Amino acid sequence: MIDLHTHSTHSDGSESPSQVIEQAHANGGSDLRAIALTDHDTMSGHSEAKEACDRLGLTFVPGCEISGMLSNGKSGHILVYFVESDSAIDEMLAGLRKDRETRNERLVDKLHELGYPVSWDRILESAGNPEVVGRPHFADEIERVDGGKEFPKRQMIFDELLGTDGRAYIPKAKISPQEVVAKAKETDSLVVFAHPFVYGFDLGETERLIREMASLGIDGIETHYSRNFPEQTERLLGLCDELNLVPTGGSDFHGKKKPDIAVVNGMAERPLSVPDSVLDQMLERRSA
Ligand code: AMP
Ligand code: ZN
Ligand code: FE
Ligand code: FE
Repeated sequence: MIDLHTHSTHSDGSESPSQVIEQAHANGGSDLRAIALTDHDTMSGHSEAKEACDRLGLTFVPGCEISGMLSNGKSGHILVYFVESDSAIDEMLAGLRKDRETRNERLVDKLHELGYPVSWDRILESAGNPEVVGRPHFADEIERVDGGKEFPKRQMIFDELLGTDGRAYIPKAKISPQEVVAKAKETDSLVVFAHPFVYGFDLGETERLIREMASLGIDGIETHYSRNFPEQTERLLGLCDELNLVPTGGSDFHGKKKPDIAVVNGMAERPLSVPDSVLDQMLERRSA
């Protein structure tokens, strides 16, 4: 068993990198072979995670997750595995973090303009690190200042303010899958289309995007995923076969930020079990 998709306090997860690894070890027991840390836009948790893996006899896979711009103009997530410091990907991540900071400054201004007196200091305090502040942190703060009056449900904050169609939407830099593929090639890093079924596209559009990305040189798709239904995983495995892509898989653990998802094991009602063969195929593709 393995888990190749986890988040820590270095982005929007609630657990430190070593806590993520320790929980993985506890959940997977002796069946657990490998774990990846895939924080958004950063590799800064890797050394701590690697140390914990070494201590527990697990293989550590260094990864990251970035938001890209798909050909349909919508945002999609891309996982990059076997990332290295001082690489083109590392440089790209630094640029994305800088852009996030600029976006966040503009978002604070925009919310003030719209009459929501959010406190940047409080947001910072809850996130811990300015580079990782994201819209979920803003949503927490808006919930606090609103006190459930205008937005009795958290999702309303995204629908009406922070989401793509919201009044306070400020776009971040848009990076294409092609750009990620080009930069990843330099260090034999693998590029994977994350959780194809979470974007709300219909099956036809999902398949079209996957075929297109395969032709642009991505290496794999995240076939095994906490929120997938078994038939969705099967469909993705079929596409991997057909398009010569590697299947990958992970929980997308965020600790208390997504309390229904356990590291390694996924959701209680749809248990996840990512087979070791996934990692073998990734290693094989990397050395090919
Ligand atoms: P950011 O990287 O700061 O732009 O924030 C992206 C995160 O915000 C996503 O990973 C989601 O957790 C959350 N998010 C963005 N848009 C929505 C939405 N429309 N509904 C719910 N959550 C959203
Ligand atoms: Zn996240
Ligand atoms: Fe994601
Ligand atoms: Fe994720």
